[in-house]
Amino acid sequence: EQAEIGLIGLGVMGSNLALNIAEKGNRIAVFNRTPARTGEFYEEAGSLKDNIVPCETIEDFVAAIRPPRPIIIMIKAGAPVDEQMALLEPHLQQNDIMIDAGNANFRDTMRRFDALKDSGLTFIGMGVSGGEEGARHGPSIMVGGTEASWKRVEKVLTSIAAQYHGEPCVAWLGENGAGHFVKTIHNGIEYADMQMIAEIYGILRDGLKMDAAEIAAVFAGWNRGRLNSYLIEITAKVLEAADPIGGRPIVDMILDKAGQKGTGKWSVIEAQNMGVPATAIEAAVAARSISALKDEREAAEKVLGLPAVPPLAVSDKAAFIKDLENALLAAKIGAYAQGFAVMAAASREFGWSLPMPTIAKIWRAGCIIRSQFLDEITTAFTRDPHVANLIVTPAFAAMVRETDGALRRVVSTAVLGGLPVPALAAALGYFDSYRRGRGTANIIQAQRDFFGAHGFDRIDGADSHHGPWGSGLGTGAA
Ligand code: NDP
Repeated sequence: EQAEIGLIGLGVMGSNLALNIAEKGNRIAVFNRTPARTGEFYEEAGSLKDNIVPCETIEDFVAAIRPPRPIIIMIKAGAPVDEQMALLEPHLQQNDIMIDAGNANFRDTMRRFDALKDSGLTFIGMGVSGGEEGARHGPSIMVGGTEASWKRVEKVLTSIAAQYHGEPCVAWLGENGAGHFVKTIHNGIEYADMQMIAEIYGILRDGLKMDAAEIAAVFAGWNRGRLNSYLIEITAKVLEAADPIGGRPIVDMILDKAGQKGTGKWSVIEAQNMGVPATAIEAAVAARSISALKDEREAAEKVLGLPAVPPLAVSDKAAFIKDLENALLAAKIGAYAQGFAVMAAASREFGWSLPMPTIAKIWRAGCIIRSQFLDEITTAFTRDPHVANLIVTPAFAAMVRETDGALRRVVSTAVLGGLPVPALAAALGYFDSYRRGRGTANIIQAQRDFFGAHGFDRIDGADSHHGPWGSGLGTGAA
């Protein structure tokens, strides 16, 4: 019996995805560049062996799969994917489908898709979220490619995806790079979510001088409320964990230097390319970059010292912690609104027709940003799929009005206390500028016209395109 699907790359993600596929009753052929790993994987597969066809050569692997062959490539992103595709291509036939399931830059996906256009082969760029655990027991899956290729893999992918109250967290989102683009923005939002949590943690630790166990209790409590989400849940768990060496809270032993692999940065670059403000995500990416400057930060603290400010002015601790909860919710709304706005712009730019309610739906379970909150976003976008911004949907406008006061109090308290809250402040700045009909860009336009004769529109619609600047006009200086 031929396999329904193939998978190349038995690393952490690939192995778990293959076991998940086999467990759901799909026969799968597997291949790994280093054949020893294939044997090892097969031996560890236990009762799932019956559904797994381990292959040592590409020829055997391809022959084991039912045509048209869907082949998942789950290897290190970047050049390795191009190398693997080039090795695989000569063995494939008309309508076979190469599926890149790694964290590809969607621009690479677009390029790979185009390169195969006239070959008779097809390509799917597939975003997979949920880490190791998700891959094994149910990830969120974002698919980009032709509708025909999606039809070929729909059944298998639906069988392995996470479920939210019985609804599978997988969908075809559009042609070529759509799936990897949406995965990128998922990660951008994830960066913002994580950074905002880190800023709140900083206020609790450095402002309120709470220890890890006390902060864990705060997050655990929030996880039972409106902030209920995987990231809040694991934050509480992380804060509770003890260091095996010495027994102190493990978080207190971890170096404050964050890594990044590129998806956050890509989100911000693409947002900027399209002129979409994604300030909370930008702040989160920049915060990771600042975190990486550990030596410089330590040197700067010696030169500048910490801000010379009085301790945090908090008279009612319980009320302030309630404010922190609402502030986090408000800021989170800002970050998601920005992420969805970036996707809406990309949908127009790349001609994808990205289905916003569906994207929110397939993020409700399986992925890292999964939460109750995404169900509320699903409802809002289902009611109004073409709304300009999430924060002007009735439900979210009400939530912003209810919680932005807390965000304002928290940001100002933190700022006066000398604590950095760049992502929370970015979300607040976004609300405050987005909701203000009359902004301050009139002065920018005047300046631009003054030094560069760029011209401006008038509020009365009258037809004067330049200001009365006299000799300053048109000096041509940039
Ligand atoms: P790695 O990125 O470390 O990939 C390991 C696998 O890649 C191994 O099977 C390895 O084969 C193979 N490989 C590396 N280089 C090549 C090459 N040039 N040609 C062929 N095969 C190669 O492991 P992960 O499983 O963590 O990640 C896989 C992909 O999934 C990445 O794109 C990652 O960004 C993405 N991803 C990861 C998540 C995670 O939580 N880890 C979550 C979501 C996506 P060999 O055994 O021969 O070395």
